[in-house]
Amino acid sequence: MIVGTKVIRKTGAAGLAGHQTTSDTSDGRSTRRAVLAAAPVLAIAAGGAAAPLVKSTGPRQARNKPPARTMRALFAGGGGPPHFRAIAAPRIEGGVEAIVRPLTVALCDLDVPYIANLLPMERPYAVGHEFTAEVVEVGDAVRTLKPGDRVTVPFQISCGTCSHCHSARSLDCTSVEPLSTYGLEPFGGGAIWGGAIADLVKVPFADAMAMKLPEGIDLVAAAALSDNIADGYRCIAPHALPGDEALVIGSASVGLYAVAFASALAVPCTYIDTNAARLKIAEQLGAKTVATTPDGRSFGEFALTVSANSTPGGLQSAIRSTTGGGICQAAGIHFRGAELPLLEMYKRGVRFTTGRANVRDDLPAIFDLIRQGRFRPKDIGASVFKIDDAPEALKGGLSYKSVIQML
Ligand SMILES: [Zn+2]
Ligand SMILES: [Zn+2]
Repeated sequence: MIVGTKVIRKTGAAGLAGHQTTSDTSDGRSTRRAVLAAAPVLAIAAGGAAAPLVKSTGPRQARNKPPARTMRALFAGGGGPPHFRAIAAPRIEGGVEAIVRPLTVALCDLDVPYIANLLPMERPYAVGHEFTAEVVEVGDAVRTLKPGDRVTVPFQISCGTCSHCHSARSLDCTSVEPLSTYGLEPFGGGAIWGGAIADLVKVPFADAMAMKLPEGIDLVAAAALSDNIADGYRCIAPHALPGDEALVIGSASVGLYAVAFASALAVPCTYIDTNAARLKIAEQLGAKTVATTPDGRSFGEFALTVSANSTPGGLQSAIRSTTGGGICQAAGIHFRGAELPLLEMYKRGVRFTTGRANVRDDLPAIFDLIRQGRFRPKDIGASVFKIDDAPEALKGGLSYKSVIQML
């Protein structure tokens, strides 16, 4: 689904007003550029015809657009293997926008089954939505960023000015189509924003979305700040009270990030999984580990429970392990649904939440924990490979966290 014209239809946000104004004068506007003029126009591998990342933005756009430059982007899913395609490189079209060059891109837990064609997708799509990046160009209304800044960019597109963004619900920004994200077209985010495994990415609301990375942070470990790290954070940190204990049922990386945040906040944590490598990391993070498959049974009484896998048994075990009045969070996605033990939940007053992380709103608190040395993204580890090797590497069995080095 292409939703390219949506951005300029909304006029309530100040940032969008800027977008329209600068579109009127796009031929003559001033933007701060660093190295975009020399942005790589890379050799094209197999993969089909170029397709525009950004659809026309409507009648207020300049009539004589310069010819689009092309860039390399990785496509995957749709029943075929991962492959590079040449697509149009994004351009600044509004004053509040920025163009960034991804430096490291992590695969989200959700990317892995899509890339392996385990989930339905009609056609290949541009992949990648967890990334660190360097700013290469900013529109003339951008105030907090300059070329050369290193940033994390949340996977969810948010304007920072609508009522939802003002209410710390940027995961559902009303200035863009629902589920607007990078690199998750099959999940409902549309194709307009493109994927991060690409030479360049447009940040449509640069001041609102991008955040400068803490000094000295490891770029491989920081890539997941855009999504899975924030997903682990929201399962634990906003809810933990003194004396609470947590149970985390893991499957890929989100569960381990949740364990890391429990450790950061000195919340005793039990971790359940069957994967030896993940169990070892959880143990190193200070968790008590149980090597077993969650099958719906209770593992005890925990004030905070997290189901980070996507099996009905994992979800039901988490719910049944939640103490009366406690909080159970499902970070896993249940494409085929799952039965909830609602009567048990009612009797015990279990508070249950599910949904995507609320990345942009939670990043400041996550950065605080990083600066204090209490949360160390590097503790989770990752398999690392270079961008040129990505198509081949993504065909194989991926580990719980894979990170692509783009340069
Ligand atoms: Zn994700
Ligand atoms: Zn918004």
